[in-house]
Amino acid sequence: MVDVGPVGTEYAQNVVKKIAVVEDNPDNRLLVRVILDSLYEVTEYETGSSALEGLQSNLPDLVLLDVSLPEMDGTEVLQRIRADARLRNLPIIALTAHAMSTDREKFLAAGFDDYVSKPIVDENLLLDAIKAKLSAPS
Ligand code: MN
Repeated sequence: MVDVGPVGTEYAQNVVKKIAVVEDNPDNRLLVRVILDSLYEVTEYETGSSALEGLQSNLPDLVLLDVSLPEMDGTEVLQRIRADARLRNLPIIALTAHAMSTDREKFLAAGFDDYVSKPIVDENLLLDAIKAKLSAPS
């Protein structure tokens, strides 16, 4: 009997990108997980403080960050990530229900890399935004 080993397993583990989802609404977290689960390794965080702690030990390739979070809002989480030498270059896409036309520029000016509005009706908008940031040079 020949042991051929876990063919391709190691390679696959190295190429699957990791995405952290910071979102307090469980329905929104579930929706994002359903959209991303077959493509990426998804880690969910319910609060900004749990995310800031978890990112230290489980560094993702990209963060999806809800702007409206209890206690510490998404903008503050963003600022803390940008102030952290190890985390500051992470691509961060804002998730927000505030879909006003001026908000996109506001969020980009605040330091987010992109912005996807909720509710997520077209999953391709989210997937395209993620792909663009994962392939962009940091
Ligand atoms: Mn929220």
